[in-house]
Amino acid sequence: MSLVVIDEDSYQVIIELAYATAQNIAGRPVYTQAQCALHRDAAVALKRASEYAQMAGFTLKIFDAYRPQAAQDVFWSVLDDPRYVSDPSLGSNHTRGIAVDLTLVDHTGQPLDMGTGFDDMHDASHHLYPHHPPQVQQNRFLLLGVMQKAGFKPLATEWWHYELPDRHRYPLIPSHPLVTVAS
Ligand SMILES: [Zn+2]
Repeated sequence: MSLVVIDEDSYQVIIELAYATAQNIAGRPVYTQAQCALHRDAAVALKRASEYAQMAGFTLKIFDAYRPQAAQDVFWSVLDDPRYVSDPSLGSNHTRGIAVDLTLVDHTGQPLDMGTGFDDMHDASHHLYPHHPPQVQQNRFLLLGVMQKAGFKPLATEWWHYELPDRHRYPLIPSHPLVTVAS
C-alpha cells in the first residue's frame, strides 16, 4: 500500500490527531487507534512544507491526514454540508491519503492565531474572509505560502486543509490498519 507513516522526528512536525480525541465535529473520539499517515507523494510534499516552515521559524502541527471511509461516514452524519465534508459517495481526498489538515506553531509552541479553530465550519474559516484582523490574514497567508510552495493546494472553505492536485491519480483507500474507526 502506498501510505507511509508521518512521525514527528523525521518530519519535524507536531502531530495531534483531533479525531482521536473528543475535540472534533463529532464531539467524541472517532479513531480508536491512529497513526498519522499519508500517500508517499503527499509525505514528500509535507517534508518540503515542514522545511519551509522551519526556515521561517515555525513548526507544522497536524490535525488529520489519512482518514478511513468509515470516519468520513461519521462526519457526514454529523454535518451533511459538502462545503466542509465530502459526500461519502464521492470520497474525501483524506481517504486518498493526499489531504492534510494543519496549522503553524511558533518557537514557543503557541499555535498562530488563524481566526478560528480547526473544524470550525463557518464563513470565518474561509480563506480571504474579510473580517479577520491583519495579523490573522498574515498568519493564514504564511501557511498558504508554505503549503503551496511545497506542492499542495488550498480549499476555499477551510484554512487548515491542503491537498495534492490531480486527485484522480490517487485511488480511495477505504480502510487501512494504520487508522481504525470505532464501530
Ligand atoms: Zn481536511
